[in-house]
Amino acid sequence: MRLMISDDLKLDYGDVLIVPGRSPVASRKQVELAVDTDFRGHIMRYQGVPIMAANMDGVGTMEMADALREYGVFSCLTKFYQARELIDFFTSDPSRSAFSAMTIGIGDDDWNKFAAVNARAGDLLAYACLDVANGYTDRFVGCVEKFRDLYPDKILIAGNVVTPEQTVRLIDAGADIVKVGIGGGSVCETRIKTGIGFPQFSAVLECARAAHEDGGRIVADGGCTTPGDVAKALAAGADFVMLGGMFAGHKEGGGRIVDRFFSGEEVTEGGELVIEKHQYVEFYGMSSKTANDKHFGGLKDYRSSEGRTVLLRLKPSLSDSIHDLLGGLRSACSYVGAESLNEISQKARFVRCSNTHNRIFEEMALE
Ligand code: 5GP
Repeated sequence: MRLMISDDLKLDYGDVLIVPGRSPVASRKQVELAVDTDFRGHIMRYQGVPIMAANMDGVGTMEMADALREYGVFSCLTKFYQARELIDFFTSDPSRSAFSAMTIGIGDDDWNKFAAVNARAGDLLAYACLDVANGYTDRFVGCVEKFRDLYPDKILIAGNVVTPEQTVRLIDAGADIVKVGIGGGSVCETRIKTGIGFPQFSAVLECARAAHEDGGRIVADGGCTTPGDVAKALAAGADFVMLGGMFAGHKEGGGRIVDRFFSGEEVTEGGELVIEKHQYVEFYGMSSKTANDKHFGGLKDYRSSEGRTVLLRLKPSLSDSIHDLLGGLRSACSYVGAESLNEISQKARFVRCSNTHNRIFEEMALE
C-alpha cells in the first residue's frame, strides 16, 4: 500500500498573526493601498486596490462591480451574464475595463460567448477569468494554453489550485494570475464532501513564492472572513485577494432578500411582545444545489453538491464594509512599517498561534 502523508505543518489564516515591527509610518492615513502590478509579457498594469470580488452569485454582479470600482477594487463578474449584457457593460463605460473581468468556464458555450463579447468589446475586455473548481485536470491546462493562443493580449486569471507545482504549470500554460484556494471558501463544502483541500495560508505562501519565481501572479481565493485575513494573505505574498462572503450580504449583490421575525423579552406598554424584523440575503456556493437548480436545471446525477446555502444578515451599506476593510489594511501596514500595501509582504513577519478565528459570518443555515 502506498501511504503518503506530508508531515509539514500547514496553516490557515487563523493559525498565524502578523507581528508588529518598527514603523516609519506616522499615520495610517499616509498608507497607499493602490498597487501598481505588472504582468509578464504585457504592457498593461493593474493600478488599484489588490482586492477582487468573487465571480459568485450575490457578489460578482455588475452593480457590485460599479460600486467597488469607486474604491479602486476589482471584480470578476459571474459566468451567467449573457453576451449582450457583457458587451453593453464593457462598451458603455470604458473605465470599467481596468476593474472588471469577464468569467467563463471551459465548455463550448463559454468559448463562443467570450469570442462574441470580444468581437464587440475588443480592447475594453482586458481581463478574463477562466474558472473551474478543479484546476488540476489536463483538460483545464489545455484550456489555459488555448486561451493564451487565441487571446495573447488579455490578462488571464485562471484556477483553482493550491500547490506550487500546479501554479507553475498554469503560469507556463499562459495564466497571468493563478487563483489559489480549494476548500476554504465560506460556503464551500469540498473538504466535507471529498476530503480534498489545503490550509489556505500555507497554500498562498507556497504558491505565491513559486509564482513569483516563475514570473507570475496569484490571487488568494477564499477563506477570508475578516480584514485581518486579507492583510495576512497579502503579507504572505498574494498579489490579489478574492472575496466572496465578505462582499456578500449587500444589496448590490442582488440576492434574494428574506424577512424573518423574532420576538425578544421586550414588551410594549400594552403588554404585547415586541416583534423585530431582521432582513437576510440568500448566499450560496456556486457548486451548491441552489446554484445548480438556478443555472443548470438541477444537480446532475453524477455530482454532489459541494456548496452550502445560507442566509446572511443584510449588511447596512457596502461603503461601510469597504471602509472597514480598507481601514484595516491601512492599519496593518502601519503596524509593520509598510508605507504602501505593495510593501506589506516584505515587511511582515508572522507568529504561529493557537487558532484565533473568533468570528464567523452572522448567518443562518437554510433548511
Ligand atoms: P469566500 O471569500 O466566500 O470565503 O470564498 C470565495 C470562493 O469560494 C470563491 O471565489 C470560489 O473559489 C469558492 N467557491 C464558491 N462557491 C463554491 C462552492 O459551491 N464550492 C466550492 N468548493 N467552492 C466555492
